[in-house]
Amino acid sequence: MTTWTDRTAIRPIALSAASGIDRAAHHRLDEAWLAAAWSHPTTRVFVVSGGQALVDDTPDGRTELVMTPAFEAPPTETHRYFLGVDEDGVRYFALQKDSLPGRMDQSARPAGLREAGALLSERDAGLLVHAVALENWQRLHRFCSRCGERTVIAAAGHIRRCPACGAEHYPRTDPAVIMLVTDELDRALLGRQVHWPEGRFSTLAGFVEPGESIEQAVVREVAEEVGVRVGDVEYLASQPWPFPSSLMLGFMARATSSRIRVDGEEIHEARWFSRDDLRTAIESGEVLPPSGISIAARLIELWYGEPLPRGPRG
Ligand SMILES: [Zn+2]
Repeated sequence: MTTWTDRTAIRPIALSAASGIDRAAHHRLDEAWLAAAWSHPTTRVFVVSGGQALVDDTPDGRTELVMTPAFEAPPTETHRYFLGVDEDGVRYFALQKDSLPGRMDQSARPAGLREAGALLSERDAGLLVHAVALENWQRLHRFCSRCGERTVIAAAGHIRRCPACGAEHYPRTDPAVIMLVTDELDRALLGRQVHWPEGRFSTLAGFVEPGESIEQAVVREVAEEVGVRVGDVEYLASQPWPFPSSLMLGFMARATSSRIRVDGEEIHEARWFSRDDLRTAIESGEVLPPSGISIAARLIELWYGEPLPRGPRG
């Protein structure tokens, strides 16, 4: 089987690059260190709210997170996430608030990872994905799963503790597999989920089940969704996907059967595409490929051999 791992240099997978931030987890329980870090003049803080933060364009055309020293940040009692330290010793925090601060005097605007993930520097994208993942987990895990009491935030946002039974709860990550299946003719199998608009096609994907390896999950999901058997499965790369708490594990998989039988529950239709088929279908507008920062677009590009063409609407 083709080895894909030496061909991943087409375009980097957003959100998965090295951010240059040391998470410095050993400081999370050290309240004195955290207090000193918070009030240090070089420390930088940004607000995260509902998966968004303020971003702004720089004069040289880049997009960056709007960050301030702590003394300019809005007041907070508890929801302060320590994200790490960069190579220059700058400490980064995110504040979770119910709304973003107003910045009417500037060009700053709210943006989530889907819009800003590919525009931000690796450092800023890494900080934002960490903050959004923590925010989503905090929001959905306010009560103890052991005894039902309300839990309290600890470890600078990385633990929730139960004052009633003493349980400690850690941020949850749900592994999901996402795979581009190819056949012996080197065609790619793309499917359309039932709730997607007409023409939207992408790779297949699904959650890993309890007691299952990720390779087994690839084989099972492809069989369930489109009735195709796959043999060789090659892991390629991963991408944090905090919507709300997934980790996407990207694969290339080789089909050993080609007859498609969609399940009709998750996948509405699926087709084998040659590269020419896909180019024609995208250029005519018949197929809308996955866009944005998703690893799905990178898996398809890796097979396609170059960035995907643009559709008639750009
Ligand atoms: Zn409890």
